[in-house]
Amino acid sequence: MFQRILYGGDYNPNQWPREVWEQDMRYFKNAHINSATVNVFSWAKIQPAEEIYDFSELDDIVDMLSREGYDIVMATSTGALPAWMVKRYPEVARTDYEGRAHKFGHRHNACPNSPVFQKFAAKIAGKLAERYGSNPHIACWHVSNEYGGECYCENCAKAFRVWLREKYKTLEALNAAWNMEFWGHIVYDWDEIVLPNALGDGIGWEKTAFAGMSVDYRRFISDSMLDNFKMERDSIRKFDRETPITTNLMGTYKGLDYFKWAKEMDIVSWDNYPAYDTPWSSVAMRHDLMRGLKGQPFMLMEQTPSQQNWQAYNSLKRPGQMRAQSYQTIAHGADTIQFFQLRRSKGACEKFHGAVIAHAGTDRTRVYREVEQLGRELEALGNRTLGSVHDSRVGIVFDWDNYWALEYTSGPSVRLTYVEQIEQYYRFFYDRNYSVDMIPVDAALDRYKIVVAPVLYMVKEGMREALEDFVQKGGVLVTTYMSGIVDQSDNVHLGGYPGPLRKLAGVWVEEIDALAPGQYNEAVFADKSRVKCGLVCDLMHLEGAQSLAEYGNDFYAGMPVLTKNAFGKGFVYYVGSELDAEGLSRTLRMAAEDAGVSPVIPEETGLEVSRRRAKDCSYYFVINFRKEEAEIPACLVGKTDVLTGRQTEAGEKLSQYDVKILQVKE
Ligand SMILES: [Zn+2]
Repeated sequence: MFQRILYGGDYNPNQWPREVWEQDMRYFKNAHINSATVNVFSWAKIQPAEEIYDFSELDDIVDMLSREGYDIVMATSTGALPAWMVKRYPEVARTDYEGRAHKFGHRHNACPNSPVFQKFAAKIAGKLAERYGSNPHIACWHVSNEYGGECYCENCAKAFRVWLREKYKTLEALNAAWNMEFWGHIVYDWDEIVLPNALGDGIGWEKTAFAGMSVDYRRFISDSMLDNFKMERDSIRKFDRETPITTNLMGTYKGLDYFKWAKEMDIVSWDNYPAYDTPWSSVAMRHDLMRGLKGQPFMLMEQTPSQQNWQAYNSLKRPGQMRAQSYQTIAHGADTIQFFQLRRSKGACEKFHGAVIAHAGTDRTRVYREVEQLGRELEALGNRTLGSVHDSRVGIVFDWDNYWALEYTSGPSVRLTYVEQIEQYYRFFYDRNYSVDMIPVDAALDRYKIVVAPVLYMVKEGMREALEDFVQKGGVLVTTYMSGIVDQSDNVHLGGYPGPLRKLAGVWVEEIDALAPGQYNEAVFADKSRVKCGLVCDLMHLEGAQSLAEYGNDFYAGMPVLTKNAFGKGFVYYVGSELDAEGLSRTLRMAAEDAGVSPVIPEETGLEVSRRRAKDCSYYFVINFRKEEAEIPACLVGKTDVLTGRQTEAGEKLSQYDVKILQVKE
């Protein structure tokens, strides 16, 4: 997709006088910065009034960057509305969850179903493409910015009804899908459908009286914003047929079904902002998810070179940390490293957000020196890792419908949250350096030996068949409590849990207990060893599966908590309660052994080791994220570190945030 690793980030010279631009060019050149993302929030600048477009300043910026040989990431500026537009056409602003129609303010503030917004956004994207599309320095188009949020205005209500008519065709089908006999909610006219916010069936921001309706609204909002993206993309394509088009995503952001979005994007890009206490496994999981969206390398559109400003505690990245994080990003599939931002803003709410050039306005800073060092290294690394791939045999299912539906449920436990559950299973594989793909529910499963689908609450049409086929042919499936419960409309699969997975798992879950914080049960294995379990406890009966552990306490002591079922040539592990780390690793070790999957290197190590395969060699990214020094694994001794050109030696140690990229012919 790109000829080199794009290294740079968001750049807003329009916020600075011209003499600063010239100074920036010198600083950036010395830091080996080769890319800039411009025009992200400049709509009011390039269209100061309805009939007036003024590209003079942007022309100057593009000319300057082109002269300097930058790869320009050109944004379409539609992530924030101009004030004049909201004043003249109040419908372009959003109506919030409480039903309040917003005035002008903030960003990400356009109603996705406003025809006025759509008209203006499509037009400005087209004008930008017409003007800059033939410039060979434009490396990528960046539509809007961090799509997100929702709207509950009258235009959205009308569009939702149209969306529902297309989906359900008849009101009978809609009433059945949402189970509207409940509380006598039956609708007899499409116009009787009310949006599920605080004025309707919403209960607080995250709960609802009708999950079927609220999940549909999330699907609708995701689709509405995706339509906005496609509209701008298509406007660009009229003038520029080749340059890749993206928009920056946000990891496990709840509001948008990124698997659906990725199908419309040429390349996935995302913004990585872990907090000071985010586990490295969680960061790695999000990278793998972003790579998994298209099964291709991605762009890191934003990270801070030093600190954030919007989190509770915005700690500095320690010396070496930004470099280590950048290589972790590349290790998991990134082909670009971009910062937000290149020069720190003087005012407004992001003035404390880190940047390559801080308020002191000089290159004599720790952060600049670290950016310069990384720039030098990436330039030397060249294009050798670009486009290289992962060959994971472990797939972990991630599904936005499931995310929404699970968290809308009233019961059994408020602590049952989707991403946290997925992270627990990911962490086992991460800690042991297995390469993992994060996959959608409709993924081709053939390439995987083990598929892990925690809390697969919503089992949609076709999934039972796909999973049965996978196991039948010899795959290993791991699934858990709160799986197989509902269909795509959040109606229960009747006949006993886990519904469509019952035959496959060989168990019947009769009841689900919920344990409050501090309460726990125990899982007792055949060798009498015990581990803690809790959160929810499935009370289940064996229907062909074998019990690997049973509950140790309470009135269901002796009932199975962990089972294994032989199905065709493969196996299904069903985990009936949230096991502690020891119980979970014991379970997943058995499953991984049955599946015959191996980690990237056979040795156990505290280092993060990932592999990207290029045409005629592999690159092993070895990173130490722990405080303690760690020895280079024996199997990686004598390999060439492409960052230094030196060969690794036996007993060599990596300190915290040390990185090696080892080239291995294989
Ligand atoms: Zn709206």
